[in-house]
Formats: sequence, structure tokens, C-alpha cells
Amino acid sequence: MSARQKTGWWLCPTELDRARVIDGNDRVRVIRMIGSIAVGVALLASAPWVGWWTLVLFALATLNFVNVERRIHTSPRPEIVSAAAIVITLLLLSVGVAFSGGPQSPALPWMVLPSAMVAARFRPRVVVAALVLTIVLILISTIGVDPRSTFHDPVLLIATLALLAGVVSIVWALEDAELHHRGEAILDPLTGLFNRNTLLPRFIEITYQARLSGQPVSLLLCDVDNFKAINDSCGHDRGDAVLQDIAYELRKQLRSFELAYRLGGEEFLIVLPGIGSADAQKTAERLRATMEQLRPTGMQVTISLGLSTGLGESVDYEGLFKAADEALYEAKRTGRNRVVVASPKATRLAAADADEQALRLAV
Ligand code: GH3
Ligand code: MG
Ligand code: MG
Repeated sequence: MSARQKTGWWLCPTELDRARVIDGNDRVRVIRMIGSIAVGVALLASAPWVGWWTLVLFALATLNFVNVERRIHTSPRPEIVSAAAIVITLLLLSVGVAFSGGPQSPALPWMVLPSAMVAARFRPRVVVAALVLTIVLILISTIGVDPRSTFHDPVLLIATLALLAGVVSIVWALEDAELHHRGEAILDPLTGLFNRNTLLPRFIEITYQARLSGQPVSLLLCDVDNFKAINDSCGHDRGDAVLQDIAYELRKQLRSFELAYRLGGEEFLIVLPGIGSADAQKTAERLRATMEQLRPTGMQVTISLGLSTGLGESVDYEGLFKAADEALYEAKRTGRNRVVVASPKATRLAAADADEQALRLAV
């Protein structure tokens, strides 16, 4: 799947949106910890006046976020983990507000925070949904709990609603500006495919899933044949156009859960989660034949492919990549426009080699 390919899913319509959620979670980890400690200290200091029970809500909120940390990198739908955690925080806050004075609760302004978290991670329509839910919960935990007190002194409620609008607008605007730069950090600007920055975090999730489910994972390393000659004879711009056409065709040929990356130059990596060697060979052969027929910018262009497959516990990026790279080298050496499959033995040796290298580096 390419970064812009659709997932058919309301919370995260494209794979890029999903990458944003994980990326956003990882970025704010330290800040969130500092924020949580500040909230914990504030609750502890206010407990004699507000009530010690607020610490129970705080403990539940902390457990909630520990759960996100545990699950976000292993879940196939990390956006649900993130969104559910934010909704749970909102519910805990509204319970806290309802039982600590309703419309006069000192915790009322804190109900703004979950919507700010949503604005920093999700698309506008999800932010609007979060705003509506927040407003409804604010009204239930104020007017719903104590309508007389609310209408007698609505100042805190009005201030909280204004704060909600202000904070969410600011986070939204900052996020919009940031998105442009983040897109460049995740996507290859020439082809629109993911670049290698997103490969390792995604592969860690795929490794977890494969190890849990015992499923296979295949890697296809593709390299355009004699690409330097295209650049040399037709110019760099034409070379760029060829790369764009090839990337577009790769995307078109792959299914929604199959991931395509541009590693650099004229080299692409395709990750096939849950696909064993026999099916991956069919995919590789189809890609090879399609490129042979494609004639990007009117030129005959071919690709060579190296394929490696790991199963369950043996899925390991370094080893699989090394085995696919060796197979690609073999495809080039034996005439190009070919698919070479790394043998299970070569894949095991490459994995052992990668382990040894990692150990040496660690030592
Ligand atoms: P082989 O079949 O062995 O892969 O030969 P090759 O010519 O494809 O491989 P080589 O590594 O010798 O050349 C790759 C060329 O790709 C060299 C480099 O100038 C060119 N290249 C790298 N990135 C880009 C790019 O973004 N755009 C264009 N147009 N060319 C690029
Ligand atoms: Mg090449
Ligand atoms: Mg190359």
C-alpha cells in the first residue's frame, strides 16, 4: 500500500493518516509523561479539598495510557487504540467534573485536553466529532448535574467552552503547518511512496504480528535495470519520469495491505505481510512482467527482484533484507529482468550473519 492509498476506514482514511497517529503518539510521549506528573501533583495537592477519590480516576487514566503504549505498535489498527484512549480520558474527566462540583468544578477546563490531543493527530472530521462529544459531555457534567448552579453562575462553563474553541483552533492550525513538513519526512517527494524513515517502525509492528500469529512475511527488493544508461542517454528529468511511472505501476499492482517503499535511487522495497514464498514469487513475477510491458515514457525498461521470506519467530528485518539483497545481486549477475528467490538456508544464514553483526556492534 502506498502512503496515500485508501484504507476504507473513517478514522484513518489513508495509510499516511495511520502513520501520523503512531508518529504523533511517539513524539508526545515525554511531554505526556511530564503533563501526567503535573496533573498527579495538582490532584494530590487539591485532594484534601476536592476529595481523595480523584486519585482513583487519575490511576485509571494512567493505566489507560500505559495500555496505549503497550498496544499501539502491535495493533493492526493503532488509530482505534489511540482514539479509544482519548475517549476514555474524556469520560474519566467528565466523571471527575460531575462529582467535584459540576459547573463549578476546578477540573472543568481540563476537559479541553482530549480534543487538543485529537487535533494533533487526526483529520478535521475526527476533530469535529471529538469537539461535539466534548461539548455534550461538558453540558451533561455541568447543566445535567446541577442546572440551577450552572445558570446561577455560568462563568466557568463559558470560559471552558471558549478555551475549548481557542486551544483546538491553535493546535489545528499548528498541526496543519506541521503536516506539510511531516509529509516530506514520511513520503518520497518524487514518487509519493513511503520513504525509508517509515519502514523500520512499520516493520517492527509487522514482526510482532508475525511472531504472534506464526504468519509469514516476504520482502521483495526491486531495482531498475541499467537505469544509469537511461539518465545518461535521455537526461535526468526523463529518468525521474520513468521512476514516477514505475512507482505508480507498483502501487497499482499491489493489494491494500502490501507496502511499497522507495529506498533511494532506483531501488524499491515491497513488504508483503502474511504472504508466503509461493504467493510472493507470483507477485514478484507479475511485477517483473508488468514492468517489461509498461514502457514508461515510451522506453523499454525492466526490473530485477530479490525475494526472501521469513515465518513466525524467524521474521527479522536485517536478515530478510540481507537475503533479498543477495538474491537481487544474483538476479543482476545472471542477466537482469529476473526474479531470484533466496533459499530458506540462505535466509537463515543471512539472519545469523545480521545477528552476529548486531552483537559485534553492541560489544
Ligand atoms: P543495474 O542494472 O546494475 O542496477 O545498473 P544501474 O545503472 O541501474 O545501477 P547504478 O547503481 O549504476 O545506477 C543507478 C543510477 O540511478 C545512478 C544515479 O545517478 C541514478 N539515480 C539515483 N537517484 C535518482 C533520481 O532520483 N532520479 C534520477 N533520474 N536518477 C537517479
Ligand atoms: Mg539499477
Ligand atoms: Mg541500484
